[in-house]
Amino acid sequence: MLMNQEKLAIHGGSKVKTTPFGTGQRFGEEEVAELVEALNQNTLFYHFGGKVKQFLSDFNAMYGVRYSVAASSGTAAIHVALGAAGITVGDEVITSPITDQGTLIGILYQNAIPVFADLDPHTYNMDPQSIEARITERTKAIVVVHLAGNPADMDPIMEIARKHKLKVIEDCAQSYLTRYKGRLVGTIGDYGCFSTNDFKHISTGDGGLVTVNSGEEADYHVTHAFADKNYQRFGSSVQRDLHYLAPNYRMTELQGAVGIAQLKKLETICERRRRHGDRVTEGIKNLPGIQPHHVESGNACTYWFYMLRVELGELTCSRTEFCKALEAEGIPNMEGYIPDVVYMQPLFQNRTAYRNSHYPFELTGVTYERGLCPEAESILQTAIRLPINEFYTEQDITEMIAGIRKVADFYRKR
Ligand SMILES: *Cc1c(COP(=O)(O)O)cnc(C)c1O
Repeated sequence: MLMNQEKLAIHGGSKVKTTPFGTGQRFGEEEVAELVEALNQNTLFYHFGGKVKQFLSDFNAMYGVRYSVAASSGTAAIHVALGAAGITVGDEVITSPITDQGTLIGILYQNAIPVFADLDPHTYNMDPQSIEARITERTKAIVVVHLAGNPADMDPIMEIARKHKLKVIEDCAQSYLTRYKGRLVGTIGDYGCFSTNDFKHISTGDGGLVTVNSGEEADYHVTHAFADKNYQRFGSSVQRDLHYLAPNYRMTELQGAVGIAQLKKLETICERRRRHGDRVTEGIKNLPGIQPHHVESGNACTYWFYMLRVELGELTCSRTEFCKALEAEGIPNMEGYIPDVVYMQPLFQNRTAYRNSHYPFELTGVTYERGLCPEAESILQTAIRLPINEFYTEQDITEMIAGIRKVADFYRKR
């Protein structure tokens, strides 16, 4: 039995995982009932209907915040936060090089310039020391990405921000109900931005949301107007005077309706993902050649995915061989996350945010070259990403652990 176990499936041995992973329906009767109610309102406009308002007030209650604003996507939510914070032409905004491009788009639409800080090698979140080292007199904000459900180190980040008078925008697109020392991420900085695209913990098809953490009504009004063409819709009056440029990022009642039903499932989804991810770590910690997805003690990660790193010096295989062997054991996985750090994208290499222009890059001396964030680059070269899902069973996790252990043991340098 033991002999048989040790022979990798890729070499003709038996697979660790022989049963399919747990699956389930993320939408049900609750969403259908909300959608029917939305349609029966005879309007799908957020300001006339009640669904987006309800979605926001449920979210506010769950997060303990007074104000939030709906948006059409997570990308839009981040742009709204930046616009409301007054980030503008030529400002520098420090952010993470391992993220979805939605983190960066709003920065460039404000004609501000993304500056990349390096990451912690084990949490994959921004290293506060690197943030501070990138501050210049142009720096106006930090967009903190809480990657994969794991909180960034917010205390030192907030301290640096206060010292240098920077706005802090939390990108929580991958981090619902993630806790930093007990506090929910998205409530610590000036704004918290969430995405409800179809790949996140909860889905409204597409959608997003911004919390306004000052709790000030005036800030709420500015934020709200920035998502709605600068229309000031408060109480019964509508003020259309155009003082500033603002896009139309409105959420429809259909999305709000689905959001209400999805929010009711959020705690269960996050609790299961947290338990599953933490169990993987428990099962592979101290395994030679493997560095688990590190969560600082006192924090709660809700694992949008699980990402371990291989120590190639401790193993006799390449990352690709490790991944293929694990796949053959019946454990799905991917090499890395995004293919490369975002500053290696053509947009940054060619300095072309807009067709036929080098604006706003030409306003500043910021450059983007290989080696800018060595730890981030190294993470992407040695990481293996494992999907985590709330529908997975305890057995699925047990077998994921057994698969990783089997492959790591086979390839361990002796
Ligand atoms: C998904 C995501 C976004 C963008 O959200 P969309 O709703 O797709 O626009 C931004 N940042 C991060 C970290 C994300 O994962």
